[in-house]
Amino acid sequence: MKTIAELTVIPALALVLTSCSGYQANALTEAHQDARVAQVAGLFDKSSTRVEPTLVPCTLSGGTKTECFSITVTSLQTEHKTGPWCPRNISDGPDQSGIWLNEGKVYDADGAFVENLAAFYQDKQWQLFNPETGAVKVTDSKDACVAAARPDVDPKYRNYCVECLPSYVEDLKEITYLIPAHPVYLGNLQQVDFHSGIGLAFNGVKFDAPAPVEAILGSHTLAPFDDCGGHVNPHVGYHYHAVTGCTKEVASIGEHAASIGYAMDGFRIHSRLNANGSESNDLDPCGGHLFGDMGYHYHANDPGENQILGCFQAEQGCALEGDSQSCEMTGQRPPPPGMPAK
Ligand SMILES: [Zn+2]
Ligand SMILES: [Zn+2]
Repeated sequence: MKTIAELTVIPALALVLTSCSGYQANALTEAHQDARVAQVAGLFDKSSTRVEPTLVPCTLSGGTKTECFSITVTSLQTEHKTGPWCPRNISDGPDQSGIWLNEGKVYDADGAFVENLAAFYQDKQWQLFNPETGAVKVTDSKDACVAAARPDVDPKYRNYCVECLPSYVEDLKEITYLIPAHPVYLGNLQQVDFHSGIGLAFNGVKFDAPAPVEAILGSHTLAPFDDCGGHVNPHVGYHYHAVTGCTKEVASIGEHAASIGYAMDGFRIHSRLNANGSESNDLDPCGGHLFGDMGYHYHANDPGENQILGCFQAEQGCALEGDSQSCEMTGQRPPPPGMPAK
């Protein structure tokens, strides 16, 4: 929870920053920069960030050259326990399995749900369990999870519950996120591009693009999320497709919903509900609004929507994983100057 001091510092800082008239990327004084970096560093869980966040030059998705916070996280999230995902038998209850999202609703992906899939989806081809023993077919190795989770599912793993364990992810896999320090508004909300994900929780876990549910169901597989809305992909590690209140929350002004992380365009993401249980009723198609001194920010969608944000209001930063160059995916530009070599 945020202290009173933090609450008063943030609006004051925003005021200072916006008063730097005719802002240029390098016009901030060193003191301003240090304060901004310290503020952002303080929000992230120390155990998940590899190195102290820094401010680096970057090029955003729309080509704007500016400054980004460089935040390097590991795949080892320690804030909350992960799993369970797939039930092992159709007799397993909701405490032995995760959740599934369908048409705006959250379901326990428990044994009863697996048993009932053919009726639920009105498709007799669903048969995820052995009718004699009740045993659920679950991917049980890294190779199986990779083969079952790829877009063209290995036919061997049709009618499987797909589960990748955190131990399948390389130890200390690092991902560096470049998140704009000064959001640059897009003129057009149609430019939805979640290639680098939606954002980053304060515990260092990625808020990912919507799970490709159609493709998953098309091959009669289920890839449940744990109760925190996350599951593991060997390439990304543990990541969220829904916000269910498991992660660090930083109190907002008054009763307004707490913030939970940053979107890839540099705006903050807040939880859905205000302290009194109400939702903001003026959210735009992206899920954001301008609210008093807090400026523009988003509120995460209901977990059942499988879409944490509807779109971005501003140009996005990017994620750098190992040798991959996902920052280049939106264009033919070379990596921004000053970007970490790795
Ligand atoms: Zn996923
Ligand atoms: Zn709000």
